Amino acid sequence: MGIHFTDRLGGFSSDGYASLNLGDHVGDLPEVVAQNRKVISDQFGNTQYMNQVHGNRVAVIEEVTDEIPTADALVTGISGITLAVMIADCIPLILSSKHCVAAVHVGRKGLVNRVTGKTIEIMREISDQEISATIGPAICGKCYEVSQDIYDEVIASHPTCASRTNSDTPALDLLSGLIADLQDLGINKIDNQTRCTVENEDLFSYRRTPVTGRQAGLVWL
Ligand SMILES: [Zn+2]
Repeated sequence: MGIHFTDRLGGFSSDGYASLNLGDHVGDLPEVVAQNRKVISDQFGNTQYMNQVHGNRVAVIEEVTDEIPTADALVTGISGITLAVMIADCIPLILSSKHCVAAVHVGRKGLVNRVTGKTIEIMREISDQEISATIGPAICGKCYEVSQDIYDEVIASHPTCASRTNSDTPALDLLSGLIADLQDLGINKIDNQTRCTVENEDLFSYRRTPVTGRQAGLVWL
C-alpha cells in the first residue's frame, strides 16, 4: 500500500500548466499531458483516472481502462492498480484499509452531497477492516472566499466549515467539514498532510491562476 501527492514539479507542460499537469480537460496539449501521465505510471504503476463532475458516484475499479469512468471516487480491492484523484484547490482524500483503497474528490459540492460517506459504505462492503484517511493539499479556510449564499448553504449542513478571510469576508474551511464528517463516519485515523494550494506556488491552484493544471492524489494497495 502506498500514497503519494504530486505537485507542479517534474513534468513537461509550460505556462500555467507548468510542469506536471495531469489534467486532460484543462486546455493543455494532450500529447504533453500523456507524457506527464507517463512520468506517473513509470513511478507508481498503471494509473486509473476519472472524469470528475462534483457528483457522488463511486466507481469500483477491477482493471485500468482507457474508458475513463465518470465519478468522483474510485475504489479498488486489487493490488497493482493505482487510483488518481485530480485537484487544483478541492481536497484529495485517500482512504485505505487492509483490503481496499479509495481516491476521493471532495470539493464544496462533494462535501454537501456526501461523496465520502458513499465511498466508505462501498469500502465496508468489500472489507470490514479499519479504514484510515489521508488528506492532501487543498485551499485553506482563509483563502476560500465565497458569496454569502454559498456560505449559508454549506454551513447549514456543515457548521464546522464556517470561516472568514483575512479581510473578514465569508469563507469556507472545507477541511474542518471533511474531518468532522470522517469522525462521524467512524474514521479515527486521519493523517492531515494538507498545505494550502493558493499559498504554495509549487502547487496548482485555480483560485490563484484560472489557467492552471491539476495535481493528483495517488493510492495503491
Ligand atoms: Zn490559504
